[in-house]
Amino acid sequence: MNAHRSTAPDSPARTALVIGGGVAGPVAALALRKAGIEARVFEAYAPGTGSAGGPLSLAANGLNALRVVGADTAVAGEGLPTPRMAIHSGTGKTLGVIETDPDLPGHVTLPRGRLAELLQAEAASAGVQVVTGKRFVDAVDTGRSVIATFDDHTTAEADLLIGCDGIRSAVRGVIAPSGPQPRYTGLIGFGGWVEGPAVPDTHGTFHMIFGRRAFFGYLADGERTAWFANLPERRLDRDALRANSFDEWMQRLRAAFADDAGPALDLLDHVRPEGFIPASPLEDLPHVPSWSKGRIALVGDAAHATSPSSGQGASLAAESAVELARCLRDLPVEAAFTAYERGRRVRVERIIAEAARTNQSKAAGPLAARVRDAVMPFFMSRFATPERTAWQHAHTIDWDAEVRAPMRRPELGGTRAARKR
Ligand SMILES: Cc1cc2nc3c(=O)[nH]c(=O)nc-3n(C[C@H](O)[C@H](O)[C@H](O)COP(=O)(O)OP(=O)(O)OC[C@H]3O[C@@H](n4cnc5c(N)ncnc54)[C@H](O)[C@@H]3O)c2cc1C
Repeated sequence: MNAHRSTAPDSPARTALVIGGGVAGPVAALALRKAGIEARVFEAYAPGTGSAGGPLSLAANGLNALRVVGADTAVAGEGLPTPRMAIHSGTGKTLGVIETDPDLPGHVTLPRGRLAELLQAEAASAGVQVVTGKRFVDAVDTGRSVIATFDDHTTAEADLLIGCDGIRSAVRGVIAPSGPQPRYTGLIGFGGWVEGPAVPDTHGTFHMIFGRRAFFGYLADGERTAWFANLPERRLDRDALRANSFDEWMQRLRAAFADDAGPALDLLDHVRPEGFIPASPLEDLPHVPSWSKGRIALVGDAAHATSPSSGQGASLAAESAVELARCLRDLPVEAAFTAYERGRRVRVERIIAEAARTNQSKAAGPLAARVRDAVMPFFMSRFATPERTAWQHAHTIDWDAEVRAPMRRPELGGTRAARKR
């Protein structure tokens, strides 16, 4: 165990243990460091042991959050520029095109695992200790510090513990053992990257196709193609998903897209097992009642996982990580955690709810699909404009603005008593 000088409950934190080295973890560590709090990151997997991951698009608001900690350039430099999204029906009709605001940082797409690698490297080069191959299992909050235990029976201690360990967070299990579990969306997801000119260059357009039986997305720069597919699967059987072979999935995907316009079938011909991310259930976490307890707090998917349909999960994780650090910079621990949660909850839960509505469109039956294809062009032209989506994409964090202590919410009993008087 590292020597740790414990702090009084109401004094500002000086040290933190950050669990998870995905998106939220490295960004939180960088932001905490900027706030004057020394953070160490503990990631369960050793470098190179996870898969590279399917495509992940990072939006302008995510890049803005990364800019606060100086990590935007490295990420933007590796991603495929993705300035627009085009939505099509399975018949080949274009239902709408969403251009990103040219005044905002351009969206980029890169493998999910690569994003984590880049952010870990940024944290390490800024002087953050990133310990890999160490799985968090438990924590004890002493009231003046937190002591974490790992699966190799070692421990670490700091003023705070920040759980950035994803949608199945073990840290969340410690602070809320009977708390909410991830919710299955009714869709399973696949994806990957194909090397070589499998489909023509899409010149920065991420094409999304509401097919007759399933949803397909692809983006190509002539040298590599990012793709994903969402298949409706009403009853989730995780064992059956795991048991299916690559060939079986390819057969099922070909059947799902057999009657759709677009290059899905051509692209599937080029997919190889090593570049294929097999089926996983798409899930979200719409409402975690409390994001902190004592000296432990949750950030990113551990607190507010949106399903991939929002294209916002990583961006929100980065935003929350920076905001938590800003609160801890200016306030003692308890007040900081309260200010952080109050500042973030409405925004993230609104995005999670919007993504859930998109999931319903992806799993629409034939009649609902016809209605969707008929009304979507109208809605896209009215609501998918840069002005209408600015609340998501143009969101920025004012790092220098001071965070004020949150007002206490009036107790219900107290209010009634006051009314009686
Ligand atoms: C198929 C798919 C597509 C997606 N597409 C997009 C997209 O286009 N755009 C977008 O913004 N978001 C997308 N997302 C969501 C995005 O990946 C997440 O919202 C984001 O990664 C959340 O970051 P995080 O750091 O909170 O969690 P994660 O990225 O999940 O990181 C958690 C980390 O904690 C580690 N960990 C877990 N348990 C422990 C433990 N006990 N001890 C130590 N370490 C632990 C994990 O190994 C992992 O590295 C997608 C998600 C999926 C599944």
